[in-house]
Amino acid sequence: MSSTLDRSAVQASLNVWQMAQRQLDDIAKIIGLDSSIHGYLREPKRVLQVSVPVRMDSGSHRVFEGYRVQHNMARGPGKGGIRFHPDVTLDEVKALAMWMSWKCALVNIPFGGAKGGVICDPKNMSMQELENLTRRFTSEISIIIGPEKDIPAPDVYTTPQIMAWIMDTYSMQKGYSIPGVVTGKPIAIGGSAGRDKATARGCLYVVDEAMKELKLSSGGARVAIQGFGNAGMHAADLMAAAGYSIVAVSDSRGGVANANGLDVAKVIAFKQETGSVAGFSGGEKLSNKELLEYDCDVLVPAALEKVISADNAPRIKAKIVAEAANGPTLPEADDILYERGIMVLPDILANAGGVTVSYFEWVQDLQELFWEEQTVNERLRRIMERAFRDTLGQANRLKVNMRQGAYAVAVGRVAEATSLRGVYP
Ligand code: NAD
Repeated sequence: MSSTLDRSAVQASLNVWQMAQRQLDDIAKIIGLDSSIHGYLREPKRVLQVSVPVRMDSGSHRVFEGYRVQHNMARGPGKGGIRFHPDVTLDEVKALAMWMSWKCALVNIPFGGAKGGVICDPKNMSMQELENLTRRFTSEISIIIGPEKDIPAPDVYTTPQIMAWIMDTYSMQKGYSIPGVVTGKPIAIGGSAGRDKATARGCLYVVDEAMKELKLSSGGARVAIQGFGNAGMHAADLMAAAGYSIVAVSDSRGGVANANGLDVAKVIAFKQETGSVAGFSGGEKLSNKELLEYDCDVLVPAALEKVISADNAPRIKAKIVAEAANGPTLPEADDILYERGIMVLPDILANAGGVTVSYFEWVQDLQELFWEEQTVNERLRRIMERAFRDTLGQANRLKVNMRQGAYAVAVGRVAEATSLRGVYP
């Protein structure tokens, strides 16, 4: 394997899609992947680019550009969110679709990887404009989505309401209700119990497993969480309820710490009242930079990408880093954490609870039989525990870090399915 410096220099010059391909190339070498299957997995199966004309509130029309990419569907229909953001690019959507193939394979749910995006600025659009955009985009991509083909979900700036419009538009075209075309819907139209907390809950379950593996007791174990949104806030709440001591939390405006443990219910109430955890009186003020290096047993980055670098990795005190966020750790930091004996639970494992309960939502929609939240959580726990064990087993066998272990499991599964099905005709 190339040195840390070589790798970071190379990574800096690559765009996100080339980085995703490079990750696959690295794993292909480690697992000795057959070169023809490797070539197959390096490219997306299908890329659809659409023009989306939208009637704006002014009465004029504006044309937006959107994409749906299906990376690999050998293991089942495509699965992946739709992102509405000004910085969406086709290369980003291709990379995210490839990562969805690996994430679904790692938790062993019968989906391939897909992703969608529209270049737009939803913060500067009215609800009516957003609805018009969502419905026309759905109509344009309806030739490749469907409950048996490709099932979108929420991603950056797309909400349960937007999922409801996707479901309605697709259903209107077919003439009857088809809730299984999309997940992350409101419960009233076929969403799943437990979906809102699923990412955080999945993260808790893999942290529990890592604690057992490292022979640490979760009772009173100290946890620092960066980001207090869907992933971070629910993680704080669920981990506190499970007996962990939440010693530091933060959001975009700053953080708060208390070495004796924060009162999480009060922090949540404070955040709901003021819009931030910063300024909460039950602890001391700390910056986001300080939070990452705070004295704790478990660090949960649940906000942004690229926050753990070669600069701060030597000072991280946690024994476990659980990546609720996507891509919080730079490759050079990975090597440092591994050498320091810190167990990193990679994003495709630590935040896979969301897509797993999306899978449950799709199953429930197809069966028209809905489960109690307890059933959802029990099944989620089994899947997360198995994914943790598979990752650890592979990492130990190959003598690599947990991220490479997870990729080795996932890429191996997609490669096996692709190879078994063969090349048509
Ligand atoms: P969110 O928008 O609900 O919350 C993001 C949080 O990060 C907010 O509290 C925000 O204040 C905070 N934040 C923003 N900038 C910050 C900064 N500079 N420093 C510290 N905190 C900052 O988003 P989310 O859904 O919780 O997603 C967070 C991460 O988890 C993302 O990487 C996302 O891709 C990943 N993720 C989320 C889910 C899910 O189901 N929500 C699933 C998989 C992965």
